[in-house]
Amino acid sequence: RAKASGQGNVVEFDRTMDIEAQALMQMERDLRAAIDNDQIHLLYQPLIDIDRNRTTGCEALLRWSHPEHGNVPPDRFIDLAERSGLIVPMGEWVIRSVVEAAAQIDPGICIAINVSPVQLRNPDLPGVFVEALTRHGVDPGRIEVEITESVLLADTDANLSILRKLRDIGLKISLDDFGTGYSSFSYLRKFAFDKLKIDRSFVEPLDREPQSISIVGSINALARALQMTTVAEGVETERQFEAVRIIGCDQAQGYLFARPLTLDALVAHVETERREGAVQMSRAG
Ligand code: C2E
Ligand code: MG
Ligand code: MG
Ligand code: MG
Repeated sequence: RAKASGQGNVVEFDRTMDIEAQALMQMERDLRAAIDNDQIHLLYQPLIDIDRNRTTGCEALLRWSHPEHGNVPPDRFIDLAERSGLIVPMGEWVIRSVVEAAAQIDPGICIAINVSPVQLRNPDLPGVFVEALTRHGVDPGRIEVEITESVLLADTDANLSILRKLRDIGLKISLDDFGTGYSSFSYLRKFAFDKLKIDRSFVEPLDREPQSISIVGSINALARALQMTTVAEGVETERQFEAVRIIGCDQAQGYLFARPLTLDALVAHVETERREGAVQMSRAG
């Protein structure tokens, strides 16, 4: 490789790699320190029960406020955390925080946690849940574990056995971002998921493309046939909400109802909603 591209180019290439690798290593050091320095926190985005017209759940979403780079989006640091293995201690922090939050809020509200494939390879994972649930006296049925299709792509047997242990504890297991992965349908044969989250990319065109109504409708019907409940992700407009309501999805999540909120704001949001007797929709939608 070095000889073919000539001396000069190789030096250039190495230098670029060096800078990128160094930046990545610095970022990794920062991320390692972030937990101890209270730079990471969770926000909670409401999930609406469509028939009952009320918030019955929420999804915990990680946020990192970097002292120099500002708010780093999860799409940028989760990958780094996975590759460096930092996702394991970080994920344990998420689990403990979420179970503690569940003990503090209305018991009618479930909380979903995103769990990465790397975490599912760790045999200690079920124990982390059990310990937190026991300590805070939380019903495991209120905690949902969201996994993406990529979990079942690699190390299937090991991952599946840990996933089964999580279900045996009484946790609910959801398949996240359904339809975006590789051969999505085959995953439905591998594990009996409790819930299927229909990816935002299918929900987004609902108010302008008639064929997307057929696609979301078919996914919903498939989930029904397999005894799964369904969530429409990324509902931003009243027309999209109307479409997923007619299709018959069980729950909806998206900016139309609420952005991810701090725990205090979530509690206030649910209280307001209970007082008004119906979910609030943002005018922006
Ligand atoms: P996800 O699990 O599919 O989470 C939903 C994402 O969609 C969130 O982005 C949420 O803020 C965003 N969203 C919700 N409603 C709307 C909407 O109406 N419109 C639009 N445009 N977006 C909407 P976020 O918070 O940036 O998270 C991105 C991804 O990062 C998540 O996707 C999840 O895969 C991952 N992630 C977040 N927190 C954690 C965590 O604690 N652990 C792990 N392993 N992954 C996490
Ligand atoms: Mg999710
Ligand atoms: Mg999702
Ligand atoms: Mg998605």
